[in-house]
Amino acid sequence: MNQLNNSVKEIILNQEQIDILTEHAKNSHPNESCAMLLGTHNDQQWNVKEVFLTNNMEQSETNFTISPEELLHGHQLAEKKQLELVGVFHSHPNSSAIPSDTDKKFMKGNPVPWIIHSVMNNDIAAFVLDTSVEEISIKIKERHFYQ
Ligand SMILES: [Zn+2]
Repeated sequence: MNQLNNSVKEIILNQEQIDILTEHAKNSHPNESCAMLLGTHNDQQWNVKEVFLTNNMEQSETNFTISPEELLHGHQLAEKKQLELVGVFHSHPNSSAIPSDTDKKFMKGNPVPWIIHSVMNNDIAAFVLDTSVEEISIKIKERHFYQ
């Protein structure tokens, strides 16, 4: 019997992965930082197994771009570990953790959860673009749980 009978969409990470991402955001300040999240997923759950930190080519406070080379490396790493891209992470140095109009545009081309970390108010939130942008839960995995 399937016990996952709720319809709540969620992306699952452990605290160490969250720390790596927020540290990366701090180190990239005042510019936006970005990362690829690799793992496994079904229709409603995205389970992050590996964080692949990337550089923001734009070195911008309001935008980010991952280079084609790093995107390729990320996808190669995923393939090697039999994982998939399950999320895109980036930070907002000076604004809230909600997708900008530019983010929404790019979410269309990258239909995985997007995690946004606001360095400004130390908030973190995840979104998917279905017919509209929808916030989903971020679940922190206990370290002692079996995956
Ligand atoms: Zn953004």
